[in-house]
Amino acid sequence: MAARPAPYLEGLNPAQRQAVEALDGPVLMLAGAGTGKTKALTARIAHLLNSGRAFPSQILAVTFTNKAAREMKLRVGGYLGEAVEGMPWLGTFHSISAKLLRRHAELVGLKSSFTILDSDDQLRLLKQLIAATNIDEKRWPARLLAGIIDQWKNHAWTPEQVPAREASAFNNRGTEIYAAYQDRLKTLNACDFGDLLLHCIRIFQVHPDVLETYQTRFRYILVDEYQDTNIAQYLWLRLLAGGHKNICCVGDDDQSIYGWRGAEVGNILRFERDFPGATVVRLEQNYRSTPHILAAAGQVIAGNEGRLGKTLWTEAETGEKVRLIGHWDGEEEARWIGEQIEDLQRGTRGLAPFALNQMAILVRASHQMRAFEDRFLTIGLPYRVIGGPRFYERMEIRDAMAYFRLAVSPGDDLAFERVVNTPKRGLGSETQKKIQRIARVNGVPLVQGAAMAIEAGEIKGKGAAQLRRLIENIARWNHSVSGTFTPSTVSNDELIIDDEDVGVAARVFESGASAESHIELAEQILEESGYTEMWLNDKTPEAPGRLDNLKELVKALESFENIQGFLEHIALVMDNDSDGSVDKVSIMTLHGSKGLEFPVVFLPGWEDGLFPSQRSMDETGSKGLEEERRLAYVGITRAEQLCTISFAANRRVYGQWQAQMPSRFVDELPADHVDILTPPGLYGGGGMAATMAQSSVEDRAMRADAYNSPGWRRFQAAQSRPAAQPRQASKMVIDGTALPVFEEGARVFHTKFGYGRVASVDGDKLFVEFEKSGPRHIVARFVVPADQ
Ligand code: ATP
Ligand code: MG
Repeated sequence: MAARPAPYLEGLNPAQRQAVEALDGPVLMLAGAGTGKTKALTARIAHLLNSGRAFPSQILAVTFTNKAAREMKLRVGGYLGEAVEGMPWLGTFHSISAKLLRRHAELVGLKSSFTILDSDDQLRLLKQLIAATNIDEKRWPARLLAGIIDQWKNHAWTPEQVPAREASAFNNRGTEIYAAYQDRLKTLNACDFGDLLLHCIRIFQVHPDVLETYQTRFRYILVDEYQDTNIAQYLWLRLLAGGHKNICCVGDDDQSIYGWRGAEVGNILRFERDFPGATVVRLEQNYRSTPHILAAAGQVIAGNEGRLGKTLWTEAETGEKVRLIGHWDGEEEARWIGEQIEDLQRGTRGLAPFALNQMAILVRASHQMRAFEDRFLTIGLPYRVIGGPRFYERMEIRDAMAYFRLAVSPGDDLAFERVVNTPKRGLGSETQKKIQRIARVNGVPLVQGAAMAIEAGEIKGKGAAQLRRLIENIARWNHSVSGTFTPSTVSNDELIIDDEDVGVAARVFESGASAESHIELAEQILEESGYTEMWLNDKTPEAPGRLDNLKELVKALESFENIQGFLEHIALVMDNDSDGSVDKVSIMTLHGSKGLEFPVVFLPGWEDGLFPSQRSMDETGSKGLEEERRLAYVGITRAEQLCTISFAANRRVYGQWQAQMPSRFVDELPADHVDILTPPGLYGGGGMAATMAQSSVEDRAMRADAYNSPGWRRFQAAQSRPAAQPRQASKMVIDGTALPVFEEGARVFHTKFGYGRVASVDGDKLFVEFEKSGPRHIVARFVVPADQ
């Protein structure tokens, strides 16, 4: 009698099993969305452990998000139960690199307590460096340089390695400022995201003994979403896999969506050359989506050239067609989606009720999120934003974190600058410049420069007293942090305040600090700094919300052992998904949705200029557009049962109304697999009519204008296309926009007169019998086709 297969092998199809069981040598799993690549990868980890091929510490698995890593850990744990002690190295390129770098920081001139900068810190630093050159920051903004440096780091170029062809970057000063930036980072004992990988690569290249240790240790390497690795990540992998060559990569060339960040889909195509003798496994059965959803996604992606091309099939029941709907504007789109979600939650539409956790809204640009957040707050629909403008990027959270960072590393100048005068301590920009000068002249961190400035009498009065208190506080917090902290990671030189220099801090240490829990300490820091009080005294409407957020922040600390660990987590895990157990709708970007799946998916904002993005449309060549199309493919294939695509005729982007055209991707959807829904604003209900009635005169004029805009007309045309197909003989063109031609007997709708039936046609004039308001002559473009 055959033994029952191990639980992780149950139900796998033969190709998946092959990928799981081919343990020796390189393996490439190349397959379309939802074919179980990630599932097979997870099973492979379980199999490696269960078969005794490797101890957990000998497995290195790279996932695309921290969330995916957590899920994988849970699954493997679930398969093997108590059987395995310890856990594999499972995480993103960044989190694994951070772990490696903490162990070997000194090899690249850092201390193991280095800070990981986020993009805000990075920009501030670059601004300072740009200001020190004579470049006009208005023409050459720091953000541009940050992007350039990121790209260079994605190519694994140190300042010396940036090729000559890049010499003209940033007004010919790019490489020079890049070098200065790296120097500053080193002085600050900090690194940015790109450095996490670059430093590791450097360590591996310069210290073969270290590389060999890890090559020997990691007997098995596994990589999910391989199509999105950039050159630096590729080098990093090749170095680590160079020993055993037991590397298993999975990916899908159609889902490569990070080209703009330097990802090279070529990596996946080159795999067999890089790793000769690789076993290549192709999976074709999709287990995620209904046939309609697959067909729609397949048709859209077919518009790209140079694909490897894959077959996908499913045994799933036909299910619902992909739904397509146009709206008057973005607000209405949000309102309609809110209503749909509530309906689906109640279980109307003949479908079983869906939990909020099973529904997601995937947007192209994070500015689209606001309309949904506003709407959902209004109707009390619980939601979580994953990625986008995140919790940890809010002002009060960043301020509070700057205080925590100072407590951990008083020499963190960026944090010091952020909060030295927040709350107000009477330290204007002149005083701050003085502090910076003294610090620079003496080659010490700002906090120490500040202490010296006080001693030297350069800062006087109330400001001096307050600054002194801040410095004393920082020293005391730092002392307390060490008490709640693994001692080995804090060296004494972290306590930069030296009583020989200034005499300010000496008293602090005499007073002694108790090692309270890190949560109490965090509260204490926010109180003693005056930060909580600042918001308590603030009378603006946002203040209570900010205080709530601060409470939330302290609560988030509970799941960490110390403040240091928390800061590390925040630097790496920017997705605010700690409340995964609560039932909420997810709002996230298409980019952030990679690898995920939801029974119900809404894809709003399918409009030219938004999706595909304006930038991709302006580009010469089709590279940008093809990447957007892959993003559309990723979006549609996240859906299991119900996928709804929508677009609006008008959208307010950064305060400006714009008339929008439906996305070219809408035109690429296969009519047989799509249901066109009736826009609520056009056909009565609260929608547009109500909005029109409430709006001001100018607003109405603007809206009326938008009615005549090409965007609106094309929107109408798109609306009518499939519905009108049977009775639509031809299209006539007005101002280059195709409009439907009506025939006798067609049912139509007019915003003022309601529904009616066409009695006769004379060119572009119709004679319509309106159901409520009687017969009228109407110009054809003022009506839209309606269902029979
Ligand atoms: P993506 O390209 O979007 O990352 P993927 O190829 O990684 O997709 P998975 O997320 O691993 O696909 O799997 C998609 C869904 O199909 C999951 O819900 C998974 O549990 C299910 N699945 C995969 N393989 C099987 C199988 N052999 N039997 C039943 N369900 C499966
Ligand atoms: Mg996957």
